[in-house]
Amino acid sequence: MENVEVFNPENKGRGLKATKEFWAGDVIFAETSYAAVVFDNLTHSVCHTCFKRQEKLQRCGQCKFAHYCDRTCQKESWVNHKHECAAIKKLGKAPNENIRLAARILWRVEREGGGLTEGCLVAVDDLQSHLDNFDQEEKNGLMEDVQSFLDYWQGKQYGMQYISHIFGVISCNGFTLSDQRGLQAVGVGIFPNLCLVNHDCWPNCTVIFNNGNHEAVKSMFHTQMRIELRSLGKINKGEELSVSYVDFLNLSEERRKQLKKQYYFDCTCEHCTKKTKDDLLLAVKDGETKPSESVVKEVIQFSQNTMEKINQARSEGAYHEVIKLCRECLKKQEPVLADTNIHMLRILSISSEVLSYLQMFEEAAENAKRMVDGYLKIYHPNNAQLGMSVMRAGVTHWHAGLIEVGHGMICKAYAILLITHGPTHPITKDLEVMRGQTEMELRMFQQNEFVYYKMREAALSSKPITVMQEPNNENQNTIFHKKQ
Ligand SMILES: [Zn+2]
Ligand SMILES: [Zn+2]
Ligand SMILES: [Zn+2]
Repeated sequence: MENVEVFNPENKGRGLKATKEFWAGDVIFAETSYAAVVFDNLTHSVCHTCFKRQEKLQRCGQCKFAHYCDRTCQKESWVNHKHECAAIKKLGKAPNENIRLAARILWRVEREGGGLTEGCLVAVDDLQSHLDNFDQEEKNGLMEDVQSFLDYWQGKQYGMQYISHIFGVISCNGFTLSDQRGLQAVGVGIFPNLCLVNHDCWPNCTVIFNNGNHEAVKSMFHTQMRIELRSLGKINKGEELSVSYVDFLNLSEERRKQLKKQYYFDCTCEHCTKKTKDDLLLAVKDGETKPSESVVKEVIQFSQNTMEKINQARSEGAYHEVIKLCRECLKKQEPVLADTNIHMLRILSISSEVLSYLQMFEEAAENAKRMVDGYLKIYHPNNAQLGMSVMRAGVTHWHAGLIEVGHGMICKAYAILLITHGPTHPITKDLEVMRGQTEMELRMFQQNEFVYYKMREAALSSKPITVMQEPNNENQNTIFHKKQ
């Protein structure tokens, strides 16, 4: 941890600052989890050690609850699973993820003490729990958790206050873990050093979860699952390090509300203070016939109502209905709202995702292109969400046979992900392969369009297209996992 030091900035909690200069893509620090668990609904499909999603997992013969890729993952887990295994057997079932995580933390505290452990800049005892900020509902939830915990826990007796503290820590510091492709949230973990990095809506760092590399494990290079704090641009020695706890794609007022509700602070970052980019997110069509204020208001109201219907239809899997609603809404929005307007971008994002899933690639590509053009004006050029969106748009264009734009997008996404995810991350590696493939196809296309289309036809008929992942409803845009 020689790259950073803890300090106390003015008007906010303690933070971390750089002790030397960094450049875009530098890993400032990496950290393995202090404790982590798989979400309740995925305990059979995600490895409990490396959090990769796998077709076939082996389960623990003792508790029949824990699942692993193989012996390597099982062996590695034993030190954390030993007590858990016995407690699950005794209780007859596994408690929910929150309880499991609290117990894993306390078993570790029991083993190593609650003070500073190796590689940590802050002790678990000293992490923020914000219990004083809890409202009545949150307090009730906490009491329920503590009760279930006591039914499950076997070990040293801890006071109610200390157990509550641990649940408070989980509630405001639990980091969301994703699968190896970064497509699905699969678990939650505690990373003490990361907890020290303060929020900024326009941050100088990003945090990425890397599930680790199995091949590397086998060849004795031990690459565990870990998070990495990566620099998004030049950072000077002494500068405070920051990450964004929420998605930037929101009006400053909305972001501030979300931060207050989830993390109990008022954001005073420069982008919130100056309301930077709010103008773009609210922009209306500019031209000879500028729409009147009342028309704009009506369209926004219509967009919000449609969004509710879309979410409903999407949760029921009624994807054709989603498409119908999106088309209707876009038709209303197009003469009135600018392409960077948040309401239009949200519809474009959902419609391109669902159209891709339904394999209506041409319309999906058109919407994805407009979405990406808007995103490029709003997001930080090295934003991870931007990179992922450009990647998906590129794949959609490739599916639609629009190889030139598709290849351009894949290259763009690759450049962003090299910084935000790093060259060894599985998604970056996928992109590298795609970049090679689309480059070759583009060359073929430029030499002879007819031959290119013939080849494509043949390739698509001999091999079923890799269908896009089913759209999911979960909001993965906050980095910390808050119990709902
Ligand atoms: Zn595994
Ligand atoms: Zn077990
Ligand atoms: Zn802010």
